[in-house]
Parts: sequence; C-alpha cells; structure tokens
Amino acid sequence: MKDKIYLSSPHMGGTEREFVNEAFDTNWVAPLGPNVNGFEQDLQKYLKEGVNVAALSSGTAALHLALILLDVKSGDEVICQSMTFSASANPIVYQGATPIFVDSESDTWNICPKYLEAAIKDRIALGKKPKAIIAVHLYGMPYKWDEIAAISKKYDIPVIEDSAEALGSSYKGKKCGTLGNISILSFNGNKIITTSGGGALVANDEKTKQKAIFYATQARDEAPHYQHSQIGYNYRMSNICAGIGRGQMEVLDKHVGYRRDMNFFYQDIFKDVSGVTVFTEPTSEVFSNHWLSCIIVDEAKAGFSAETIRLALEKENIESRPLWKPMHLQPVFENAPYYGGKISEDLFHNGICLPSGSNLNAIDKSRILSVLRGFN
Ligand SMILES: *Cc1c(COP(=O)(O)O)cnc(C)c1O
Repeated sequence: MKDKIYLSSPHMGGTEREFVNEAFDTNWVAPLGPNVNGFEQDLQKYLKEGVNVAALSSGTAALHLALILLDVKSGDEVICQSMTFSASANPIVYQGATPIFVDSESDTWNICPKYLEAAIKDRIALGKKPKAIIAVHLYGMPYKWDEIAAISKKYDIPVIEDSAEALGSSYKGKKCGTLGNISILSFNGNKIITTSGGGALVANDEKTKQKAIFYATQARDEAPHYQHSQIGYNYRMSNICAGIGRGQMEVLDKHVGYRRDMNFFYQDIFKDVSGVTVFTEPTSEVFSNHWLSCIIVDEAKAGFSAETIRLALEKENIESRPLWKPMHLQPVFENAPYYGGKISEDLFHNGICLPSGSNLNAIDKSRILSVLRGFN
C-alpha cells in the first residue's frame, strides 16, 4: 500500500524542538511559562498592534470562554453559522443556551447576511434578542465582515469571530482573528499551524484577556488560600505546547503560501472541466489562507459526482472528505431553530475537501494529479 496522503497534517518548521527543549532545560513544564507569554506576543505582533491574546488548551475552550465573557447563560439564544464544525456550536449548549442556526451564502460559504438579519428580527419578535452571533471563516475564507458588523451594530449584538481555520487570512487588509468583538483561533493538529492541540482567545482590550485567563485558570480570587467566587475552568495552554507554537509562528506565512499553491494546483487541474468549481476568493478584497482546498461538483454537468472523486482518491490511499455537514442537519441539533434555505445543504451534498497540507511534495502532487486527471 502506498503511503497515505492526508487532507491536512502537522508540518514542523524546524525550530519547534528548540523551544520545547528550552522548556525542559528550565523546568517550565507547566501550563504557564516563557513560551506561553512568548507565543502570545508572537500572535499579537502577527495579528495587529493592540490586540490581546490569551493562549488556551483548544479553540473549543476559547469559544466557551468567549460566550462566558459575553454573559451567555442558561435560557439565552446564540446565533451560529450552520455550516461549520460542531465545535463552533457545542459551547453554546455547554452554557445551557440554545443555538439558532443560519444558512450560508453561496460565494463565501459563510453566514448569509440576509438570513442573519431575518433570524434576528424573528427571534426579537418572538420575545428574545440573541446574545451573540458566531460567524466562521470556513476553510480560511473570510466572511463578509462589513455586512455582518453592520448588522451586529444595528441590533447591538456582539460577534464571536470563529477564526479557527483562518489564521493568515485577511479581509480588506485586516487579519482574520481581529475582526470580532471577541475572536478565537485553533492550533489543533490539522489546522494551519499546530501546537499539537491548542487555541487562543483574541480580545480588543487587556481587561478581557485577563478575565479570560482568570476563567481559564480555575477562577481563583486574589488570596493566599484557594478562594473562589465563580466557576472556573482548566483551559490554559501548556508551556510545552506553546513552545511548538513559537516555532510554528516562524513558518506561518511560508506555510500559508504552500497552502495557497495547493489551491492554484487544483484550479489548474479543473480549469477546463465543466461542472467542477474550485472554491476561491470571490473578490480581491479578501485573502484566504486556503486552509483546505475544496471543490463543488455539479453532477448533471460533470457526469460524475463528488463522491466518485472521493472514492477514486481513497483507492490510492489519498484522503479527501465531504464538506462540513451543516449543524441544522445534525441529529444532536434537530430541535434547534434554523433560518435559511438549502445553500449549505447543497454545498454539503456536492462538495469535497482535497489534500491541502503545506507539506505535500512533488510526488504527493503527482499521485493526486494522476487520479484527478481521470476526471477531466
Ligand atoms: C477546529 C475548529 C474549532 C475548534 O478548535 P479546537 O482547537 O479543535 O478545539 C472551532 N471551530 C472551527 C470552525 C474549527 O474548524
């Protein structure tokens, strides 16, 4: 059997081990230390002057804390993009709140401004104003920030920017991860950079960052003994993981370049194939890191389906995967309200993600090409 080609696998730059060794040499083997502070500073510098980053154990933890910081409680409602990974929505339920799912738009695949406003109006008419909006930059493609921010302002509902897949992407020159009232990042093993597992909360002010760290370290009041006035969590990033992150920051932009090259690679393969569309930026105002490159197959035009491609790749031990299955179609969320049509559902039925890692070499590419050539 040929080696497996993964959708997106960890890609070390080389200096990660030095930061990890330093942590061992200085005995900072704990969920705090110089690498945690250093990684936060690296991210702040990369994202934008003045932002405040708290390094956490996962992106999911960051979303959970974002909801807590926005005072989402039992009985509240939170709007969430339906087409996303379940981790965007699960923390709403951790808080005892109800997710209200909203469909995507067809050009960015992200939360549709029209359905979003319709959802807000209807929830208010039903007697409850949503507490927050979770918008996602799916596969690294920025959502329409201008329009979403205008709606957020009009109804005074804060946005949690789920930028788990979009570190390195930007919207009109502004980095994704700085566009929300609170933003989150993920450093899971399959993401654009990894700390083996980790995440971050990005706040616009130092006070919010410190509050996030307070909740992430068991909500200890200031006292010599253990004193608690609030429920806390164990969500801080380990100094070992942060060491990996510091090394990864040195190669982030280079790796974004490689991922974008994978997108060009697929554009070139399918450029003359009718019925196959490679997901790319709808306008030059946005820049996607192309965390994953995806295609949509119109079976009637193409004469084959996305699933046929997936199975052909699988035969050669090459991983590909259907797009995220929308949350409103998930059994666990079947009772949650939904606003929209069939855009995300159609994307799910007709799309697949193709191998997109920054570490795919010429041999990997030629193996992928030889399978995909059968489809043009
Ligand atoms: C990966 C991901 C998360 C969760 O991040 P973890 O670090 O894996 O907890 C949240 N939202 C989206 C859109 C993701 O892709």
